[in-house]
Amino acid sequence: MTERGEGASQGTPETQHICDACGAGPLTVFADLGDFPVRCGAHWADPAEAAESGSGSVVLAYCDQCGFVRNVAFEWDKVIYDTTVDTNLHHSPAFQAFSEAFIAKFAERHDLAGKHIVELACMQGDFLRSLCKATGATGDGYDAMYAGVEGPDGSGASFHQTLPPGGADLPVYDFVVSRHWLEHVVDPLGFLVDLRENAGGREVHGFIEIPDAAYDMSTAGWEIIYPHVSYFDGYSMLRLIERAGWRVEETETIFHGVLRYAEISINRPEEAPRLGTAPLPGLADRDRQLAAIAGFAQRHHAERELWAGRLAEWADAGRKPVLWGAGSRGVQFLTLADAEHRLAGVVDVSPRKWGRYLPVTAHRVDAPESLAALKPEVVIITNPAYRTEIAGQLAALGVEAEMVVA
Ligand SMILES: [Zn+2]
Repeated sequence: MTERGEGASQGTPETQHICDACGAGPLTVFADLGDFPVRCGAHWADPAEAAESGSGSVVLAYCDQCGFVRNVAFEWDKVIYDTTVDTNLHHSPAFQAFSEAFIAKFAERHDLAGKHIVELACMQGDFLRSLCKATGATGDGYDAMYAGVEGPDGSGASFHQTLPPGGADLPVYDFVVSRHWLEHVVDPLGFLVDLRENAGGREVHGFIEIPDAAYDMSTAGWEIIYPHVSYFDGYSMLRLIERAGWRVEETETIFHGVLRYAEISINRPEEAPRLGTAPLPGLADRDRQLAAIAGFAQRHHAERELWAGRLAEWADAGRKPVLWGAGSRGVQFLTLADAEHRLAGVVDVSPRKWGRYLPVTAHRVDAPESLAALKPEVVIITNPAYRTEIAGQLAALGVEAEMVVA
């Protein structure tokens, strides 16, 4: 194990872990990030309970053949997926716009009328519901975080409040959707192999969406959270999908490079051209990712210090810095940069979070409307994709603040 902050160039202890993506190995540790909150999507009414909600180690290791990254200290038993977890992506108009564009594309590209869709980790079911309505398909959605009514809901979709099933428990499907789940799975290869085996000889298609590790590794890494076991960039994701026996039809980044999707298929005629036209990730992408990984530990620790220093400076100058966004990235920012509680506030658009406390650091979340009275001079956001949206909301509140992306 490395000393905290030690970079890949300063000593590279091997782990016992074979690369999940390409099968090479073993992985090599490059960044020991210390303890992170394990329940980074939850919030509590009581600040003491929030403070004691538990932490776990994050020790990142990488594959020098494909650029795959994994937290080799991850323990599945520490993570709890239930309805108290809030995935705030879906409250964002920007994210909803991406979802609607994909639904329109799938409706045009695939004849799904009368077919069956499964969505593994369907969150609150919005995507599956809309996809079924748009295509005339039926669907089964699974998520332990699903808080709605279980069973069919009239859209064609039926919802199950449970972790995504596998093996014989997985229904026969024609199209599979899995957004923001692959990175949480302990055995991502097994997950995709299981889906392939379910397909048998049928031609099936699928859609996978993940945080893009090319963004995470080249920035401060606020997206590195305890529940994420794996970090895939385009190349390592391609290697994983192909090793599991699938074909990648199209893969590109979305959301300003923060996210990546892949459309996948199995049992298409070999001569059939790929559905997408953008080139697939290649060795140049891998090399860029390996370079980002090599500099990551140093960059991450430098960013932590930089932000803690900035917050102190702004607070001392009476500029009342606030954080907008109490999702997983926001929680990471608070954990890494504001242990001293120098922020004047934390706001989020999700009403479920208002008046409640975030894990470990126990910052309270308020409604964005509270900023009208607070009048902060600096508003920090951790996801550049929300910049325009938040700027509009600040203007509507009459808040004139400098917006800074962490
Ligand atoms: Zn690999």
